[in-house]
Amino acid sequence: MIRESIPRVNGYQRDAYTYYPVVIVGAGASGIAMACQLKQQLGFDQFRIFDRQAGVGGTWWINR
Ligand SMILES: Cc1cc2nc3c(=O)[nH]c(=O)nc-3n(C[C@H](O)[C@H](O)[C@H](O)COP(=O)(O)OP(=O)(O)OC[C@H]3O[C@@H](n4cnc5c(N)ncnc54)[C@H](O)[C@@H]3O)c2cc1C
Repeated sequence: MIRESIPRVNGYQRDAYTYYPVVIVGAGASGIAMACQLKQQLGFDQFRIFDRQAGVGGTWWINR
């Protein structure tokens, strides 16, 4: 199941869990692939992709 919001951490309750937000640096093919794998393999959507360029695609965006 893909979570659409930041999950609550329930402290000491029985259903407590820890989550680890992820920062992906670079929105090239590698960064996009990482985000896809996080979602598809782990159902994890607590990440942000940062890039110094104004668009998505890395080398492909720069050489568009
Ligand atoms: C002219 C050219 C043609 C190519 N043609 C092909 C092709 O036809 N087929 C093919 O399979 N491959 C091709 N490649 C190779 C392919 O583009 C690369 O292998 C692929 O883009 C690499 O992806 P990447 O995400 O690892 O890196 P990149 O695409 O380089 O993405 C890295 C991103 O990280 C960002 N970044 C880096 N450091 C920071 C930082 N400190 N803070 C914020 N952002 C940061 C950069 O701005 C960039 O957007 C080509 C490459 C070039 C240069």
